[in-house]
Amino acid sequence: MITLALSKGRIFEETLPLLAAAGIQVTEDPEKSRKLILPTTRDDVRVVLVRATDVPTYVAHGGADLGVAGKDVLIEHAAGEADTGLYQPLDLNIAKCRMSVAVRADFDYEAAVRQGSRIRVATKYTTIAREHFANKGVHVDLIKLYGSMELAPLTGLADAIVDLVSTGSTLKANKLVEVEQIMNISSRLVVNQASLKLKREPLRAMIQAFESAIPR
Ligand code: ATP
Ligand code: MG
Repeated sequence: MITLALSKGRIFEETLPLLAAAGIQVTEDPEKSRKLILPTTRDDVRVVLVRATDVPTYVAHGGADLGVAGKDVLIEHAAGEADTGLYQPLDLNIAKCRMSVAVRADFDYEAAVRQGSRIRVATKYTTIAREHFANKGVHVDLIKLYGSMELAPLTGLADAIVDLVSTGSTLKANKLVEVEQIMNISSRLVVNQASLKLKREPLRAMIQAFESAIPR
């Protein structure tokens, strides 16, 4: 049995064409079913649904043989582990977005940076944010949040946020402006290293099929 860990939503949806290239169809709709283990058209392949941030943990510890996770999630996960035991053979070029700094329109970010002010930054991505501002030589107070980062500058909790942006419509709806792009984000295939030895042939075939179907 090969177990693939996916998160519901965009990663699940955007992984379907890659699975199709490997001859695999998921036979249950995660938005309609309450099942956490989904069967596929292949008896030897199943999908487990986990939180996006839990995908690397499942794969690293053998709860799944492989999975799909965003670069954001992988960087934050790696920071908490000595050796993640994760093999990352492919950038799948799906779930694309960017990690950015955003502020309220009335906050002069450039001036704050220039003047060497301490900036209060709210984010779920503390590793990426810490590294970014350290490289810039900007002093920050990081405030860890688990969601709705956009609210932080609006309520005075923070001066800035570090968050994922794709179209920018969420920022716009909350009157925030993107002032800096930190990095481009896409999702990668992650594979358990022991599985790669024990289930070498079927995994190699799947990785190859995925590679052939990566959107350009
Ligand atoms: P949850 O929404 O359950 O709290 P999450 O936000 O981590 O979890 P998703 O929103 O499904 O889960 O995001 C999964 C991955 O997709 C992220 O880790 C990121 O790599 C990518 N992603 C997030 N937001 C966007 C976006 N707006 N556009 C494209 N890709 C995105
Ligand atoms: Mg989300």
